Amino acid sequence: MRPSIAIIITLLFIVFSALPRLFNPDQPVLSNWRGSVDQALKVNSINNAAQEALVGVVQPQGRGFDAAMIPSGNPLRVANTVMTQGYGVGTHAPAQVWGAVDLALDGDGDGKADPAGTQNQPVYATHAGRVTLTYDSWPAGNHIWVTNELYRTGYSHLSGFAVSDGQWVNPGDLIGYIGSTGMSSGPHLDYQVWVWRDGRWINQNPLDYGVFAR
Ligand SMILES: [Zn+2]
Repeated sequence: MRPSIAIIITLLFIVFSALPRLFNPDQPVLSNWRGSVDQALKVNSINNAAQEALVGVVQPQGRGFDAAMIPSGNPLRVANTVMTQGYGVGTHAPAQVWGAVDLALDGDGDGKADPAGTQNQPVYATHAGRVTLTYDSWPAGNHIWVTNELYRTGYSHLSGFAVSDGQWVNPGDLIGYIGSTGMSSGPHLDYQVWVWRDGRWINQNPLDYGVFAR
């Protein structure tokens, strides 16, 4: 009888040690729908140092630069944009790898993201560059890179594309539509900014590039 009791105890131990995983699954929540502009401004003030570091990059010595090349403004181009997940937190950590902000629309004016009012809304390039499309990737879903010599921006979870692979776009050009493809809990845009420095792409806080500038 002793061995069977030991087996039962072992099985119980296995079941109970697995329980926390059932209630706390590994898959992180991409968008918690509690974002607000206040939160965005708070994050922005923390990242002033990043902005100072940027100054040396946008004016490389010995050549001119075109302001259209630098990411600027809100890729959704509407005032009722809210941030549903901030930079460097949750699935956006560590920031060097996954740094991004999640953006959605507040269709009914209650200060919170509105999934129905967000789905299929237009997404615009924030700077000039060449487009690279990836269909149905993980975790980014339908994804666009806009890339030039110094900057690239990433647009994830799109429902569809409005550009073709290899196309050159200018700031403000329509590139796609907000969706919930890939690892996403609801319609939103995951927006990334990267700068080319010291021979590699370095992640930047998009809030330092005027997403919520007024
Ligand atoms: Zn995201």
